[in-house]
Amino acid sequence: MKTYQMNNGLTIPAIGFGTYLSKDGEEVYQAVLSALEAGYRHIDTAAYYGNEESIGRAIKDSGIPREELFITTKLWNDAHGYEEAKAALQYSLDRLQLDYLDLYLIHWPNPVQLRDRWQAANADSWRAMEEMVEAGLIRTIGVSNFLVHHMEELLKTAKIIPAVNQLRLAPGVYQTRIVDYCKDKGIVLEAWSPLGRGELFSHPTMLALAEKYGKTVAQIALAWSWSQGFLPLPKSVTPSRIRENLDFQDILLSEEDITAITAIEGVTGAYDPDNISF
Ligand code: NAD
Repeated sequence: MKTYQMNNGLTIPAIGFGTYLSKDGEEVYQAVLSALEAGYRHIDTAAYYGNEESIGRAIKDSGIPREELFITTKLWNDAHGYEEAKAALQYSLDRLQLDYLDLYLIHWPNPVQLRDRWQAANADSWRAMEEMVEAGLIRTIGVSNFLVHHMEELLKTAKIIPAVNQLRLAPGVYQTRIVDYCKDKGIVLEAWSPLGRGELFSHPTMLALAEKYGKTVAQIALAWSWSQGFLPLPKSVTPSRIRENLDFQDILLSEEDITAITAIEGVTGAYDPDNISF
């Protein structure tokens, strides 16, 4: 499995398994077992997804040694703050039945209830996360949905530079300013909804390229993600698709096709994190 190097010297598997909307219980349990069997070693969840407990069981039952896995979860919008973040991490660890996390992310930079004080809230959460790295409860810390002004604000007080920013990035969804900023700082860009949440599957450009390369639309989208240096997090609960979404690593897209994929239109763009309603 290909890995990316992070700015803290650690490595991260270059594809992760998405679990948003994979239902707690049998559905997500079986999906994660299928993913681990197929060869994924990196699982992306969040406190908000409500499925950490079943994912923890699947990890345990898989029998794969803990050190071979890379597990990410996220701090939800109702748990910002120094004490709150510490409690939220412990709650996630308990549900996942883990002693440590590989990656902990601030899920959103500007939750609606913190709109007048998001700067202080992120600074306090981050300070707690830094201490939890020190305490051995987390290996790496990062952010999600942060734009340049959220990063700049965080860096005013941060001792640790975020190693990851998880953003909505897919064919037709390219957040140039923050992507360039992160690349400049060696911050790994994880791509959420790398398959455009299903919107790509009927797109004529994507269909034509799938035909041309003898691959599926999902595989072309994932090859494009790697061509940009992104770390895609495809989600599925169907074993055949879970396997399909790993079988793109031999695709070599031409420069011309990469440009065409980047420029496709009609895919829902990223939310404005300063105006979300949650
Ligand atoms: P996605 O782009 O991965 O698309 C998932 C959809 O595509 C599902 O409906 C699935 O059934 C379908 N699909 C998957 N593989 C397929 C295949 N090979 N052929 C046909 N259909 C296929 O969308 P997503 O779940 O929104 O995003 C992926 C992951 O990113 C999430 O599960 C989650 O882990 C993460 N995420 C993070 C944030 C954030 O704010 N940080 C937000 C959304 C998602």
